[in-house]
Amino acid sequence: MLRTVFSPALQSSLRSASASTRQSVRGYASAPSSGSSTSNLPLLLGGAGVAGLGAWVLMGGNANGVPSASDAKAAAGKAAAAVPGVGGAASALNKDEWREFKLKEVVPYNHDSATFVFELPPGTDSGLSTASAVLFKGADSSPVKDKDGKPVIRPYTPVSTPATQGHMDFLIKKYQGGAMTSHVHGLKPGDSLSIKGPIPKFPYKANEFEEIGMIAGGSGITPMWQVMQDIANNASDKTRVTLVYTNKTESDILLREKFDALAAKDPRFKIVYGLDKLPSNFKGFQGYITPEIISQHLPAPGKADKVKVFVCGPPPQVESISGGKGPKGSQGELKGLLADAGYQESQVYKF
Ligand SMILES: Cc1cc2nc3c(=O)[nH]c(=O)nc-3n(C[C@H](O)[C@H](O)[C@H](O)COP(=O)(O)OP(=O)(O)OC[C@H]3O[C@@H](n4cnc5c(N)ncnc54)[C@H](O)[C@@H]3O)c2cc1C
Repeated sequence: MLRTVFSPALQSSLRSASASTRQSVRGYASAPSSGSSTSNLPLLLGGAGVAGLGAWVLMGGNANGVPSASDAKAAAGKAAAAVPGVGGAASALNKDEWREFKLKEVVPYNHDSATFVFELPPGTDSGLSTASAVLFKGADSSPVKDKDGKPVIRPYTPVSTPATQGHMDFLIKKYQGGAMTSHVHGLKPGDSLSIKGPIPKFPYKANEFEEIGMIAGGSGITPMWQVMQDIANNASDKTRVTLVYTNKTESDILLREKFDALAAKDPRFKIVYGLDKLPSNFKGFQGYITPEIISQHLPAPGKADKVKVFVCGPPPQVESISGGKGPKGSQGELKGLLADAGYQESQVYKF
């Protein structure tokens, strides 16, 4: 029973609006938390992207992620009408307000990751588009706060497709001492979590590119999987994808069974794994991504607007591949290995 999913918008928004605490938002795990949510905002912006956060602010968030009273009124008006999701069903999520979703199931994945299946009301889907993410916050009954008492907010990308009805699944890697992941990994079926979205990211369009190169590290894989599923589920999309996915060890590789199955049956997809240290009989490369890996596996930059390269992973990896994201969620200057290899800024998107 989804007691709180459709709680009245005004009540929810006013509750947010009255929160005097600023919220602690972060992007990727390897960027340490700071004590100030104001200084953390760029990190969320970094994760969500300009369009995403721009939209998020327009949709009712302000610099602290707290809707104003007038936003709350507007949200109350809008909440009455359910917005159809991509599959034509009503959207369970709302970009203007936090809604609580009940955890239905936890499916262990590996030593530090599990899939968290949240219930959606019957006949609804997430309402996300490809590619977009959502924000997590502790439920009202079990808030997650940082050391200064501010609510912790983190972005996540569902691994279920946007059109999936009845549930929304997240594959989440637990970080030792991580504020949100410790909380989420401590949830039991029946517990609730507040989720808000979508946070639009790159607006993927079938056949816009001939080839897409993807470079991902660790849990930065989930936005890539969202795009790959969109392509895989659309036979008329001729886009070819090469994913270069790096991890510490073989057991850290997320969604490997999906990638291997896809690459085995669908010639549009090619997967290249990289590990810190290769076990025997493992097909992949060892160590960091090099200029040679890029020239060998990624679509050539000379193909101009026919190619795109997506990058998502821990900040040090993003920095070395493409240069980090810029202030306030901008894409930032293209630097690193991709710039050295001759790619143009317009050819690269950093999630
Ligand atoms: C668009 C987007 C989509 C994402 N999707 C997913 C997804 O689908 N699945 C997923 O698992 N992740 C995803 N992430 C990453 C996610 O948002 C979080 O960054 C991640 O889960 C860690 O959050 P946390 O609160 O648990 O860790 P944090 O509390 O942020 O800490 C992470 C690590 O840093 C350490 N740390 C914290 N503070 C400090 C400090 N001051 N000094 C030194 N070390 C410190 C902690 O000990 C911990 O090991 C996504 C990120 C983005 C930007």
